[in-house]
Amino acid sequence: MCIFCDIVKGNIPAYKLYEDEDVLAFLDISQVTKGHTLIIPKKHYDNFLNCDEIILKKLTQTAQKLGNHIMKKTGANGMHLLSNANEAAGQSVPHVHLHLIPRWSAQDACVISFKESDKQDMEALHALLKMD
Ligand code: 5GP
Ligand code: ZN
Repeated sequence: MCIFCDIVKGNIPAYKLYEDEDVLAFLDISQVTKGHTLIIPKKHYDNFLNCDEIILKKLTQTAQKLGNHIMKKTGANGMHLLSNANEAAGQSVPHVHLHLIPRWSAQDACVISFKESDKQDMEALHALLKMD
């Protein structure tokens, strides 16, 4: 059973911020920062990699509108939009969701860091990954 499907069905309560026929947005139960919000489709897809593209577009459109709304209402100075796909990327609930995480400063409880790992052969990587 999927907990986010249960929230859509009303079996688990949630602090809903926005709802339409396809999309639901609600406060994350663990508030990384004040206003941390999840945006999900009402229909179950595992993650953004296999989500219907029209639905994914609706999720991102909602993220933009709601992101601006949360910025205004909380007085945040910045905002993350992120979505984890699969356990290796930290996904703990296997129902696609976009996180909106308001930011005030680098001292917030939210830590997202980009560290450089092994040097890559950029020519080979480009040849491998460029889309035809
Ligand atoms: P993930 O780790 O999959 O990217 O994010 C899952 C998020 O769902 C976590 O931030 C977690 O706090 C949130 N979450 C898990 N269970 C519930 C729940 O029952 N209600 C709400 N509102 N959020 C939940
Ligand atoms: Zn689900």
